[in-house]
Amino acid sequence: MCGIIGYLGALNATNVLVKGLKNLEYRGYDSVGIAIISNGKIKIRKGAGKLEEVKKAKRFLELSGNIGIGHTRWATHGKVCDVNAHPHVDCEGKIAIVHNGIIDNYKELRKELEAKGHKFSSETDSEVIAHLIEEYLKEGISFENAFIKAISRLEGSYAILAIKEGEEKILAARKFSPLVLGIADHGIFISSDIPSFLEWTNKVVYLSDYDVVIVEKGSYKVFNIKENSWTNRPVDTVSWDASQISKGNFEHYMLKEIIEQSDVIKRAIRQDRKLIEDVCDLIRSAKGIFFVASGTSYHA
Ligand code: GLU
Repeated sequence: MCGIIGYLGALNATNVLVKGLKNLEYRGYDSVGIAIISNGKIKIRKGAGKLEEVKKAKRFLELSGNIGIGHTRWATHGKVCDVNAHPHVDCEGKIAIVHNGIIDNYKELRKELEAKGHKFSSETDSEVIAHLIEEYLKEGISFENAFIKAISRLEGSYAILAIKEGEEKILAARKFSPLVLGIADHGIFISSDIPSFLEWTNKVVYLSDYDVVIVEKGSYKVFNIKENSWTNRPVDTVSWDASQISKGNFEHYMLKEIIEQSDVIKRAIRQDRKLIEDVCDLIRSAKGIFFVASGTSYHA
């Protein structure tokens, strides 16, 4: 599990991405990186290590621009090193992508693209995505159409964000990996999880598998590849605030969760008594109980 976040809007995308990635740290990661469109050019800063150290060492804050994508990596294909950190680019460095998940058919795709002359820089499965988009753009089609064609070739799981020089947009796609939009007055976020942008907006749009999203200034459009049609995904409002999901003054999330337990249980039972009794009856009459999640939920 890792985190991705994109931002397009009036604020400096670098600051937004750095804060957003910080808020996604709870998901665990080994490397971090950002790509920003700065003065019309794609600029990448990335490396293995924690956000604070990589941000300083690679001088993330020197970059500024209004469109950017960021990533925290949990390596699945290729070792943990600066080169394998996301974002990844095409041969010309004009398209940048971040990817969460695993591309099962990346070996075949890489072979096919290498035979066509593409040069790869990393060992990751993800890099094929940038080169596939580049390859389809050679057909003279739009960035969106090249992106959709590239996504249609992928097998496996993914949440993907892509940007390109000369295009004021972020393209995104998801299948079996989370991705959600955040709609603020000053811009649009697209991320693995709501906490990443909750300090700016609580207006969210949940996406479905096979959705491709085109984010432009102040607007978004969703195309579902499986249904082969444009689709409407409504805006929802979440009721939590940023303090509820941050660590607050606690040193660790686990410590915060332990201290909060009595409040959480009070909140959880403040509901229909009959429903609770039904659940109790069900548990009492059960032959056995299986925990179907582990981690925090298991300890709770
Ligand atoms: N499979 C990709 C990689 O190894 C992405 C892993 C992730 O989800 O962070 O780089």
